[in-house]
Amino acid sequence: MPNNIEPHSKYVRYEFAEFAGKLEPVSYEIPTPTGREVLLKVDYCGVCHTDVHVHDGYYGLGQGKRLNLGDRGIKLPVTLGHEVVGTIVASGEEVKELSVGQQKLIYPWIGCGECSVCQRGEENLCAKPASLGVFKPGGYSEYIIVPHPRYLVDLGNLNPANASLLACSGLTTFSAIKKIQPIHQDEFVIVIGCGGLGQLAIRTLILSGISNIVAVDVSEEKREIAKSDGAKYAFDPRSDDVADTLVNVANGNCIAVLDFVGNEQTVDFGLKILKKGGKLVVVGLHGGELRYPIPFLVTKAITLIGSYTGTLAEMRELVEFANQHDLVNIPVELRELARVESAVEDLSAGKVPGRIILKIS
Ligand SMILES: [Zn+2]
Ligand SMILES: [Zn+2]
Repeated sequence: MPNNIEPHSKYVRYEFAEFAGKLEPVSYEIPTPTGREVLLKVDYCGVCHTDVHVHDGYYGLGQGKRLNLGDRGIKLPVTLGHEVVGTIVASGEEVKELSVGQQKLIYPWIGCGECSVCQRGEENLCAKPASLGVFKPGGYSEYIIVPHPRYLVDLGNLNPANASLLACSGLTTFSAIKKIQPIHQDEFVIVIGCGGLGQLAIRTLILSGISNIVAVDVSEEKREIAKSDGAKYAFDPRSDDVADTLVNVANGNCIAVLDFVGNEQTVDFGLKILKKGGKLVVVGLHGGELRYPIPFLVTKAITLIGSYTGTLAEMRELVEFANQHDLVNIPVELRELARVESAVEDLSAGKVPGRIILKIS
C-alpha cells in the first residue's frame, strides 16, 4: 500500500494530562505504521458517557467509594474517543488486504490477543486491555493507529457519522440483548433507563421481533420516547406499588431485565420483577452495592449478568443488522474536533438530548 503521508508531517490529538484536567490539542508527528498496523485519518468520533468517566478518572462504587481508573492501568496523558470511523491512509508492510481510501468502522475493545479470553474472541474482557481511546490513543484526534486490519469493519450503506455509534453504544446494547435471547412471544423484556442506550435497546428489540417491552424511567419525557419507539408500557419506578403493577401487566412473565442505569434501586427492582429462570443484564455503571437473598437466587434460578461492550464478532453482526434494519438513523449533533472539550462537558452536565459526534475535517 502506498504511504501518502509526507515524512515528519504533524497532526493534532486532544489529550488530558491529569484526570479531570483540560483537553488540550497536542501536536505529534504522524506515525508510520509497521507490521500489521493500519493508520487511518479520523472522519467521525462519537462522544460517549464512558469518556466522561475516563476523564473523571473513576467510577462510583456507592457509599462514597470509588474505583480509580488510574489504578487500573490507564496511563496519562489520555486521548479519548472509542467510537471511530476513519479512512485508511497507510499501513505496515505485512498488510495486503486493504487499500488507501477505504472508510472503516474501528473495533476499539482490543485485548492482548494471546490469553484464553482473547483466544475465545472476548477481547473486550481481556485482563491486559489495549482499548483505543482508553489505554491507547483514540479518536479525539486527526489520525489513529489500529494494531491489526481485523479490527476494521466495512460500513456497507450506513451513514458514516451515525455508524460510529455502533462501536460502543450500539455494540453494548446489541451484546446485552444477545445475552437474553431467545425470548418467547408471550414473555416480556423490561428496559430500565431510557436514555440513549435504552432507546437504542428498544429499537433493536423491536427490529429483532421482540414486541413485549416495558420501559422504566424516572423521566416522563424519556418514557414517552420509549413508547414512541415501541414499548407497550412505561412506568415511573418511584410510583407506589410499581413493581406489582408491572408484574401484573406482564402477566407475571418478565423473563429479562436490561438495566442501563445500574444502581442499587434499579438492580433491586429488576430482581424483584423477574419470573423463575429470568435474566438480569446490568449494563449501567451508576454504582452501588448488591444485596439479595441467596435462597431466591437459587429457587428462582435467576441469572445475573454484567455486560461490558461486546466482541468483535458481535460488532460485525451488528453492522450487518444495522444495514438491514435502518438502526442508526437517529438524530445526532455534529461538532468540530476543536470543540471537543465542550462536548465532554455538555455530556457530563446532562445537557445532551441526543448524541454528539465529532466531525474531523
Ligand atoms: Zn487477552
Ligand atoms: Zn462508549
